[in-house]
Amino acid sequence: MAKHRNINKLSKLLQEVLVELGEDTNREGLLETPARWAKSLLTQTEGTKENPAEHLKTIFELPEDIYPDYSEDMIIVDKIEFSSLCEHHIAPFKGLTHIGYIPNPNTRKIVGLSKLSRVVDLFSQKLQIQERLTNQITQAIYDYLKPLGVITVIQARHYCMIQRGVKQRNSVTTTIAKRGIFTEQNNLENKFQNYISLKLEKKMG
Ligand SMILES: [Zn+2]
Repeated sequence: MAKHRNINKLSKLLQEVLVELGEDTNREGLLETPARWAKSLLTQTEGTKENPAEHLKTIFELPEDIYPDYSEDMIIVDKIEFSSLCEHHIAPFKGLTHIGYIPNPNTRKIVGLSKLSRVVDLFSQKLQIQERLTNQITQAIYDYLKPLGVITVIQARHYCMIQRGVKQRNSVTTTIAKRGIFTEQNNLENKFQNYISLKLEKKMG
């Protein structure tokens, strides 16, 4: 199995890292560490192996009695937890993703709600930067669902910042990406922001 081979090869490399750090890799606490480390690295980069957008293929059509005409009604899935690896420091960054979209009244396509969090998962399980993560999620939904518009907000804490000093411990990085009607009508973004901000401070605080 390819995955198993990967773990063995990675374990050996990570063992060398520990030796280079001056560790005795034969001491009890470290015996299984390279294998565990390898496993966790492989899990955290699992999204590299598939196209996350594939998960957006399971789409439904809105029933006829909803959205007879153009509507500003939004579907919002918020507080999707994620954890990713910053590609500059291979340090975790984690936080919350909030997605809102307005279905297209012509195609009437919507997506299973759990698929959105699956997409967030897979795009985060690779070496990332928060800006790209936000954009990839948004673009995938825009390409596959073809909604009137879509907006994604990500709020995250970066461990590479936290480790640099006490001063940065509380800083939260926010990134926003939007497509379609959200780029044309600011009131829609405000509507979305108002809705999610009610809950955000509590959760991130
Ligand atoms: Zn970083």
